[in-house]
Amino acid sequence: MTDFDRAAFAAFLVSGNATFTATNTQTGNRFTYRVRQKDTLYFVAVLTGPDNIADYTFLGTIFPPRSAGSDPLRGLAYYHGKRSSISPDAQSARAFEWLFRWRYTLPEFIEIDPMGRCGRCGRSLTTPESVRTGLGPICAGRQ
Ligand SMILES: [Zn+2]
Repeated sequence: MTDFDRAAFAAFLVSGNATFTATNTQTGNRFTYRVRQKDTLYFVAVLTGPDNIADYTFLGTIFPPRSAGSDPLRGLAYYHGKRSSISPDAQSARAFEWLFRWRYTLPEFIEIDPMGRCGRCGRSLTTPESVRTGLGPICAGRQ
């Protein structure tokens, strides 16, 4: 179980250096993703090996909205990477596309675990509010 609030997922996902485990409690499927910002893009990778730090494989890219008027968060678009060594049909790839599509309304059977780290700076999350949002007080602009 995790105290992470599903409603915080859409913002957490693009907080800059978010690493999280997503579990489907109905199927037991679980993947660990890392979403790193570089300029206006976010590069998505999935953990594919035993080393929690090194073994991430590029999956795809989240692009900013095409038109300046759109909501900067809601207008984001995710595309599976042509250069990804993972097939777009692989379960980890399909699961991420699905998470992205439903990022504002994740159903109850999806559990997100930021693994105790701030999605922006990577520091330990210590307050209950931080654990719910995946962002420390400073990164969340609350301090
Ligand atoms: Zn932080």
